[in-house]
Amino acid sequence: MPRITAVRGDITQQDVDAIVNAANNAMRGGGGVDGAIHRAGGPAILRDCIDRFPDGLATGDAGWTTAGALPARWVIHTVGPNYRAGQRNPELLRSCYRRSLEVADELGVQTVAFPLISAGIYGWPLDDAITTAVETVAVSPSQVAAVTFVAFDDDIYGRIQRRLEPDRDGR
Ligand code: ADP
Repeated sequence: MPRITAVRGDITQQDVDAIVNAANNAMRGGGGVDGAIHRAGGPAILRDCIDRFPDGLATGDAGWTTAGALPARWVIHTVGPNYRAGQRNPELLRSCYRRSLEVADELGVQTVAFPLISAGIYGWPLDDAITTAVETVAVSPSQVAAVTFVAFDDDIYGRIQRRLEPDRDGR
């Protein structure tokens, strides 16, 4: 069961063994955190995606590539459900976290940073995305020692912190 913390920042800058990408089924880059990871990591990530995932990935699944120029060693790509397009089964979102941690275990990594899967362009309601992320990682049998949720702004950071330490400020 990994130790869970949150930081406010940019996932591409995280000094961890693996960062998780909120990818799409095609796995050829995209907007949001996906675009940021491909831009910061350089063309090696896309080359790896094409070589290793010629048919892309199913929603809820995950797979790894190298991380190119990023400080992390690996990128674990997972495809969140597109809430805006009607994919609203929470099991698919839980599967993203479970599968990502299974892939992390295959890689033998100790530290993993996650963005909030599906909570951006795909439109999953923010607080539910946070609860699902924290609860799923908290009960994972993974060997990963530390999971960091990377919040892209202060509002998201505050919400994750309150979810991790609900008693701290009485909320
Ligand atoms: P999805 O398509 O799965 O919704 P997005 O990339 O649009 O994925 O958003 C997922 C989350 O990642 C959102 O909370 C968004 O604010 C956040 N995000 C976007 N860019 C970054 C980044 N560079 N580092 C960390 N989080 C990011």
